[in-house]
Amino acid sequence: MAKLVYAFGKGKGEGNARMKDLLGGKGANLAEMTNLGIPVPPGFTISTRACNAYSERGQRFPEELASQVERALGRLETLQGKRFGDEADPLLVSVRSGAKFSMPGMMDTILNLGLNDRSTDGLARASGDRRFAFDAYRRFLSMYGSVVLGIDKAEFESQLDAAKERRGVAADTDLDVSDLERLVGQFQSTIRARSGKSFPQKPHEQLWGAIAAVFRSWGNDRARRYRREYGIPDHLGTAANVQSMVYGNLGDDCATGVAFTRNPATGENVLYGEYLVNAQGEDVVAGTRTPQPISRSQKTDATQVTLEERMPKAYAELQTIRRTLEKHYKDMQDIEFTIERGRLYLLQTRTGKRTGLAALHIAFDLHAARVIPQREVLRRVDPDMLVQLLAPVFDPAELSRARSDGRVVARGLPAGPGAASGTIAFSAERAEALAHDGRRVLLVRTETSPEDIGGMVAAVGILTSRGGMTSHAAVVARGMGKPCVVGAESIRVAEHDGHLVAGSTTLREGDALSIDGTTGEVILGPLDPHPSEIQQILVEKTKRPARSKLYRRFSKLMRLADQVRRMRVRTNADTPEDARVARAFGAEGIGLCRTEHMFFAEDRISVVREMILADDDAQRARALERLLPMQRADFIGIFKAMNGLPVTIRLLDPPLHEFLPTRPEQFRRIAAEMGVTAAALEAKARQLHETNPMLGHRGCRLGVTFPAIYEMQARAIFEAAVHCRRERVRVLPEVMIPLVGTVEEFRVLAARVRSVADEVLGTARGRLRYLVGTMIEVPRACLVADSIAAEAEFFSFGTNDLTQMTYGFSRDDVGKFLPQYVAMRLLPSDPFQTLDTVGVGRLVRLCIAEGRGRKSDLKVGVCGEHGGDARSVLFFHDAGADYVSCSPYRVPIARLAAAHGVLTDRGGSGTA
Ligand code: PEP
Ligand code: MG
Repeated sequence: MAKLVYAFGKGKGEGNARMKDLLGGKGANLAEMTNLGIPVPPGFTISTRACNAYSERGQRFPEELASQVERALGRLETLQGKRFGDEADPLLVSVRSGAKFSMPGMMDTILNLGLNDRSTDGLARASGDRRFAFDAYRRFLSMYGSVVLGIDKAEFESQLDAAKERRGVAADTDLDVSDLERLVGQFQSTIRARSGKSFPQKPHEQLWGAIAAVFRSWGNDRARRYRREYGIPDHLGTAANVQSMVYGNLGDDCATGVAFTRNPATGENVLYGEYLVNAQGEDVVAGTRTPQPISRSQKTDATQVTLEERMPKAYAELQTIRRTLEKHYKDMQDIEFTIERGRLYLLQTRTGKRTGLAALHIAFDLHAARVIPQREVLRRVDPDMLVQLLAPVFDPAELSRARSDGRVVARGLPAGPGAASGTIAFSAERAEALAHDGRRVLLVRTETSPEDIGGMVAAVGILTSRGGMTSHAAVVARGMGKPCVVGAESIRVAEHDGHLVAGSTTLREGDALSIDGTTGEVILGPLDPHPSEIQQILVEKTKRPARSKLYRRFSKLMRLADQVRRMRVRTNADTPEDARVARAFGAEGIGLCRTEHMFFAEDRISVVREMILADDDAQRARALERLLPMQRADFIGIFKAMNGLPVTIRLLDPPLHEFLPTRPEQFRRIAAEMGVTAAALEAKARQLHETNPMLGHRGCRLGVTFPAIYEMQARAIFEAAVHCRRERVRVLPEVMIPLVGTVEEFRVLAARVRSVADEVLGTARGRLRYLVGTMIEVPRACLVADSIAAEAEFFSFGTNDLTQMTYGFSRDDVGKFLPQYVAMRLLPSDPFQTLDTVGVGRLVRLCIAEGRGRKSDLKVGVCGEHGGDARSVLFFHDAGADYVSCSPYRVPIARLAAAHGVLTDRGGSGTA
């Protein structure tokens, strides 16, 4: 019989931390902590296998589960010396979900399970606290009602609010026992009315209902949405943890809290978190009462009372456990704890989510403390986290002006670093709608809940007036790398009325507001976000490296990545300025210079238009002659900026009509310059119109039909190279022909390029190395790669077009259906963002294998957007690419991702 239930308690767990697939993160770590001798309330974990069997069997439990649960429950009763359902002193349990990957707030939890009308009286007597017993019962009823029976949570909440209003109090804790007894009655009536059945009084029935609800919660909308956002597979399932209850709400010697073993925003090595006295765990994360800081060093005002001051013994114990956990897990942990009558219990530990800044500092600090080896430092920083280190900040001078002008209207907790400024939206739906209209939106809420996830994705930053560093808003925003300020208590957010009040100012939707997620400040009006510290040092050169520990560690990380990675990292750059920025970020060449971008410059677009609209070859030649010196100057600028590093220049690619005038006055002006009528010109433009231009007259097809264009570009490239050499600037041009689908296309165009080279270079030919290669963008090119490789000196995958043509999805129109495809899981993610390794990737592997089969040293690069996407970079490493090329600001991400490719090498290249 398959084992589906794993017990933990009394210093021994049947599971361990490596069993996350089976026990979920929570269950695996509860077992591990138990084995480490850390005080954990005993219980058992029902495995993900049971959850998956339950779903597969049409929501029926597997047969063997009942006996295994009953046995585990029996052992738990023995251990605790209490009986489940005992009317005098009942054993009470929590039932919580816990998947392999943590999904904060996304799934459901039921506490105080085992209570019924009689045992609540028993609990009242046993605890000597009738108020506590009825408080526990009303919590249980509302959780059971909403999670298991599917009744809207708001119904219970509004009854609770009404009770508080009747009593004239603000906090739940101010309700007395008679209020709570009345609520229990009301909640039971609601359950009867809404579910058509009485609340189940039998604890076993409650337990099975709760386990089923936890299993079902894996498939709820919130959980699905979260998994989609974070790429967590649907088939994993969740475990259910049944654990005996401990209480943080039995009086003032009780507390409950959440903490990180280091500061998750900055990485500072201090116990960092929040707690509430006389409260249950849900109160801390719900944000309904403002929690207090745990450590003295966290105090931001004198009225706060830290756990360190209030309960020094428990605090000291927590510090010891912090050290034990970090030593054991070798990483920062995120823990939940409860103190019941002075006794500390850990309810959870997991690897803590952190900002990019914290990830960097924690990794280096752990290495300095000899906890992890140097290579592990690399692994500990997720390449995507670097986005946050490069995130914008407010200009210190502007910020200080805003401060002295009194525009800083509130201060909250700095939950997610980075500066954000935008127009206010008070609901997730409005945030999504405004962002859809192209606005930069700041989502402002009293607090966020899992339903707000769409709005959080759409917003540039998030502000809440309630909640702490571990509130939903804080945790989720940090995970997303969004600037976030939480708990800005002095702001009153009336989301339903569509306004907020900050001091004497009232703001409405559409008004501008700014937040600094690094300092916690909330600033009235707009404020421009400025380059990050790293950018200031590397690109603007306005700050010195010596003044920034962050920069020093960032650059050390990059150096480590460079030592490890095999693939090179180039950049996509069309201007000397882009090239300069990219080099500052470590680019080792240009992988794609899109020459058409040069054609759009103001001083030349009209010449380009003349060239396109020319009536005959002579007219076209005249226009091209005028373009030649401009292109040459462009290439000289870029060669100089790259100073000897390889520069891949792509010959003209887009359909010509993209350059055409659209407005009558433009036609008139060009017609006058060309000495023709505007009507004739417009007729010519109509001729160039194509029904499907992306599959039309573009790329190498232009080169074939308008040879003079490519010849002019080739001439400009080689003349620029000669010029640079004369000035002792080393150059390494790589001429790239786009959209090749047949070897014949390549052969004819490459021959023309080489013949221009021969002509321009003349006797200098031998001293100037250059390559002529092709982009691989058309699926056919992958299929005939071996013949193309015989002619081409390099391949560069244009994965944007390759994705477009492999799927048959138009790059420009995909927005109309792709979101729904992703939502329905027809696709795991946007294939234009993260490479489809299964289909497009198969073509890539095939192409590399065939190409290298013909020419073993064939140079292979990637210059589509995927070259800057960390997950895709891992694939290209595996597939054996020589380099990836991406936009300048993604170069550090690609460098680190390429190193991760080596560290997580999955067995080399070339196999499908
Ligand atoms: C590509 O298709 O991947 C590519 C880099 O070219 P472009 O995006 O310019 O079509
Ligand atoms: Mg392309």
